[in-house]
Amino acid sequence: MNLVIERLQFIYLLYISKSTSIIFVMSESFKLFRLQQIDSELDKSYARIKAIDQLLADDEKIRRSQLKLDRAKKEHFDAEKNLRLEEQKVKDQRIKIERSQAALYGGKVSNPKELQDLQQESESLKKYLSILEDQQLEAMLALDDAEAGYVEAAEAHATTKTQVADQKAELSEEKTELLQDIERQKNERNAASANIVPAELSIYEALRKQKKGIAVARVLDKTCGACGSTLSATIFSSAQVPTKITRCSTCGRILYAG
Ligand SMILES: [Zn+2]
Repeated sequence: MNLVIERLQFIYLLYISKSTSIIFVMSESFKLFRLQQIDSELDKSYARIKAIDQLLADDEKIRRSQLKLDRAKKEHFDAEKNLRLEEQKVKDQRIKIERSQAALYGGKVSNPKELQDLQQESESLKKYLSILEDQQLEAMLALDDAEAGYVEAAEAHATTKTQVADQKAELSEEKTELLQDIERQKNERNAASANIVPAELSIYEALRKQKKGIAVARVLDKTCGACGSTLSATIFSSAQVPTKITRCSTCGRILYAG
């Protein structure tokens, strides 16, 4: 809507000598300014598509959460393996104690010194069993922790995957809309450039390349809206003339005094 109003504001009325007919003529700088607006919109659309494509190709979030999940899975596997080892050690120790007890009370040994040695051995085996049982308990607790960590990592990974998929779906939708915008903007561009003199169009295109995409600068409070330099009185008044193209003496851009 603003563009329509703007367009109307800068349509100049020229009375043909007989004043029976009126023709509407847009100022030359307005035509270029309009083209600049469309090109800037196109530049913005292309830049956003480029950013979207980069975001769509970026799988860093998923990669990181997958890495965490793999690590948690490995920790769980190791904790399970460790617990099995500790359980085996306890089992083996109990067998050793049983054998020692059998020798002690089996009646085959009657020598008091040997019986005392067997008694001592049995005591130390039992002491060590208690250490092994503690280690087994620690291994069980460690497995519990590892299991909780694994479940947490799996849930976090599933959430990340969903979030990324949702985000990518939104971005794809935005890209589709941008591509439609671009088609519309291209049509507008064709229409806008059709009535610009080829020589002026060439100057415009060359300036776009040299001046980071901005070939036309709006005159704002007697200054160039692009480079900010104050315009001389001659340039300022020349920029008001609808039939000619005036350029900023500092940056060289086409001035639009609308
Ligand atoms: Zn300038």
